Amino acid sequence: MPAHDVIVVGGGPGGSTAAWRLAAAGLRPLVLDAAVFPRVKLCAGWVTPQALADLEIDPEKYPLTIQPFSACALAFEGARHETRWERPASYGIIRREFDHYLLERAAAAGADVRWGIRVTGVAAGPAGARVETERGVFEAPVLMGAGGHRCPVARALGEISEHEEVVVAQESETRLTPEWHQRLAALGTVPELYVEPDLRGYGWFFPKQDVINIGIGCTGGSNGSLLRRRDALVSALGASGRLPADLPLEPFKGHAYVVRRRAPRRLAGEGFCLVGDAAGLARDLSGEGIGPAIRSGRLAAEAAAGLLRRGAGLDGYAREIVRLYGPGEPGWVGQRLARLPEAIARAAVRLILGSGMMRRRLVFGTVFGMREEAP
Ligand SMILES: Cc1cc2nc3c(=O)[nH]c(=O)nc-3n(C[C@H](O)[C@H](O)[C@H](O)COP(=O)(O)OP(=O)(O)OC[C@H]3O[C@@H](n4cnc5c(N)ncnc54)[C@H](O)[C@@H]3O)c2cc1C
Repeated sequence: MPAHDVIVVGGGPGGSTAAWRLAAAGLRPLVLDAAVFPRVKLCAGWVTPQALADLEIDPEKYPLTIQPFSACALAFEGARHETRWERPASYGIIRREFDHYLLERAAAAGADVRWGIRVTGVAAGPAGARVETERGVFEAPVLMGAGGHRCPVARALGEISEHEEVVVAQESETRLTPEWHQRLAALGTVPELYVEPDLRGYGWFFPKQDVINIGIGCTGGSNGSLLRRRDALVSALGASGRLPADLPLEPFKGHAYVVRRRAPRRLAGEGFCLVGDAAGLARDLSGEGIGPAIRSGRLAAEAAAGLLRRGAGLDGYAREIVRLYGPGEPGWVGQRLARLPEAIARAAVRLILGSGMMRRRLVFGTVFGMREEAP
């Protein structure tokens, strides 16, 4: 009999959530992650209340860096629109801390968590899953791919299309000295989002307690165009006084991932399923991917338990993901919207951003996933 019921490849929020739920259900998950935790994960660290609720984390009791925010500004074509809420609308966390905390919690619940082990090959079928690593072979009845954008399970079994749309991003996260923290806090603590003039992405300035995170992500851009956008953002932040020229920033680093616009991956098959970025679930337009990774991790754990205990297939999991996050390819309306001339699209964005109700409902609620979804 294999030592584990499920092998989870990747211990980011998707994989650790799946492992935590599996262990809580009395199953024996094994998590394999190539990185040694705590590890750096490039991310602005914006998490929605829904994502924290799915994790059953009370933000008041979370013991590490967490910045509630109840206002956020959106800037486009020189206009700045601030939205305010009566209670925290979302939170800023530090991924290095958050991911480590979640993985340790999964281990405390009974998951066998092993980091520093890179998965090099996978196979899954009716006889179960086989995972090759630098440190030997592991076998179990079920395999979960939660290895992010480069997940080996997704690459081997997810039927990834070469037409997928990749977001390229650059980010710098800096922990401030107490003096700098005080100086910048005096300039305001409202996160700011800067929509790119050609609507291909957006930059952000995200203060989180004594940490500032600055970054930019866009689709369809080369690295050269991303660097130009990043430099323009840094100069604009400098000119507005938000980013004093003598502030020592951590160097910018880059990362890529897919959003659910054109990512029609195979989400599940015989004895395997994909979770989070491995499944291409980050939200179109905003790139919000932590919430979908966590929610899909929970759903995948339930589906795996159903398979192991009742022989139920994993296709119900795939259907639920499509219901929540769409099929991964644009429908009729999406295709027509994508063909709109840029000037009309910009006018529509001006209109949406200019209306407090549309910003709240459409931009933050839908695009950034801040509207609560039924569990
Ligand atoms: C610059 C940037 C900013 C972002 N900002 C936000 C934000 O503010 N809010 C938000 O919601 N989303 C944001 N995202 C998206 C978010 O980071 C991802 O959607 C999220 O991390 C997905 O979680 P995951 O668990 O699926 O994968 P990941 O967090 O990528 O975890 C995957 C894990 O798999 C491991 N792994 C990979 N390959 C192997 C292998 N071969 N063997 C073993 N282990 C392997 C990796 O080490 C990693 O730990 C941002 C992304 C970027 C790039």
